[in-house]
Amino acid sequence: MSRDVEAQLRTARIVLSQFVVKIGEHEETGAHADRIDQLREGWTTWEARVRELGGEIEITHACPPGETNLTPCCSRTPFELPRTDRMTLDLALVTCKRQAAAS
Ligand SMILES: [Zn+2]
Repeated sequence: MSRDVEAQLRTARIVLSQFVVKIGEHEETGAHADRIDQLREGWTTWEARVRELGGEIEITHACPPGETNLTPCCSRTPFELPRTDRMTLDLALVTCKRQAAAS
C-alpha cells in the first residue's frame, strides 16, 4: 500500500468514526432527528470509501428476525453483506449504523 493511500485511509477512518459518534449522540438524545438520515448517508459514503481504499471495516449486523431475510439494521439480505462483516442476535452488539437497529 502506498503512503498516499495509507494517509487517505487514515483520514477516511477518522471521518467515519466521527459520523459514528454523531449518530450515537443523536440516537441517545433524540435531537436533530431530521439530520440523522443525512448522517447515516455520510456514514455509508465513508464506509464505502474506506473499503475502496482497501481498508477493512468490521461491522456487526443484527440477524434477520423470524420470517424475513432482511437485516433489521440495514435492510439487506445476509448475502449482500461484505464478507468481513459479522452478524449477531444480540442487538447490544450491533455496530451497523446504516439505520437504527430495530428494538
Ligand atoms: Zn446492518
